[in-house]
Amino acid sequence: MILNLNQNKMVLALVRAFNVTLLTILLACISNAALAQSAHVNPWAPTELGPLPPVASLTEGVWLKGDLHLHSDNSKDASNNSVAKIIAFAKSVGMGYICITDHDNHVNGDVAHHTWTDPGFKSDSVLLLYGGEWTTTRGHGNAFSARPYDHQRLYDVRDQRDIVIQAVKKELGIHLSANHPSGKDHFGFSYDMVESIEVWNSAIWSKNANAIMIWDDMLSSGRKLTGRGGSDSHHGTPDSPDKATKNTYQAKANYVGTPTTWVFAKTRTTQAVVDALTNGRVSVSANPYDPRVEFYADLDQDGKMDMMMGDNVKSTGKPVKFRVQLSGKVAPDATYTIKVVKNGDDFSTLQMSGKTPVVEFTDTPAISGRTYYRVTVEGPQNAYPEVPNSMALSGNMVGLSNPIYFNFDPNF
Ligand SMILES: [Zn+2]
Ligand SMILES: [Zn+2]
Repeated sequence: MILNLNQNKMVLALVRAFNVTLLTILLACISNAALAQSAHVNPWAPTELGPLPPVASLTEGVWLKGDLHLHSDNSKDASNNSVAKIIAFAKSVGMGYICITDHDNHVNGDVAHHTWTDPGFKSDSVLLLYGGEWTTTRGHGNAFSARPYDHQRLYDVRDQRDIVIQAVKKELGIHLSANHPSGKDHFGFSYDMVESIEVWNSAIWSKNANAIMIWDDMLSSGRKLTGRGGSDSHHGTPDSPDKATKNTYQAKANYVGTPTTWVFAKTRTTQAVVDALTNGRVSVSANPYDPRVEFYADLDQDGKMDMMMGDNVKSTGKPVKFRVQLSGKVAPDATYTIKVVKNGDDFSTLQMSGKTPVVEFTDTPAISGRTYYRVTVEGPQNAYPEVPNSMALSGNMVGLSNPIYFNFDPNF
């Protein structure tokens, strides 16, 4: 079709008129959307917090150290590592508790008739938690319990939807923990199912950067999730040289206590250990001889500490004094670097030294909305002669605290 000049002008005019109309409609839509947005009320937005449970005693309790991720010969990928050998070693380095977490898929879910009925599964001094490594196609988690439970049921639902797993887990009354959450066999389940996360797996500290990142994301989203350690050690020292395997070298590099998880338990019982773990009164040290990180807050600045890591209170809008201290043996003349993380971001870097290193800082947690603070401590490692090659693998990472929380909703 050939159009004459007038027809061409008419078409152009029509197109222009259409464009103007389109623009008008578009502008109307945008202003309506803006209006709608300003009127929108998010039904999930945080509301006024009700009263929070009181903070538990800071003095009535006992600090216990342990390892929450250990494989005995009941795991097919372990070597020279009987249950009896692990427990005897744990006792020799002063552990207060351990949990032997064998791969449940290596015994078709029946850890109850393998690890827990192993003749060596007994101790007169080390508290033994009941547990297992929930080893699934979507990733690994550790189950922890103060008493025996039906682990077979947890194993049987491993490939089901999270909502089914969550219901079974609740019925079992266990503490579930996300293992080595990034990389191979990362925890591919909802973090709503777990009470804790393995933020420090094995002596090799540098491998854990992504785990820490995930932890901060979960904390920032309102999940009060305990950070814990676990050596994930599989290989013991052979009883005779002919029993050595290609992995035997690991016994001197990564074994019970690399890292060590400290819990402040109300009493010296398995239930109190699990409760402390759930409540976050926990810190992690590179090895059993390294100092323990303790993190406290003085809410009214009267010089007396009112809360510790894992505790959660309402912010008053007034400044809070925080205290970081190391307990246990510290290297003479050593200087430790403390990095404070606030809501996932670097907040400040401090230094401390002396026989009983202590450092304090002050900040005002926001009156509304959540705030958390946690610390890491870097410096020289204490020697761990029983596992001498672990120290270099942990670098200068001595320990880390769990967060101190403000305005976290316990019903989240
Ligand atoms: Zn694993
Ligand atoms: Zn493991």
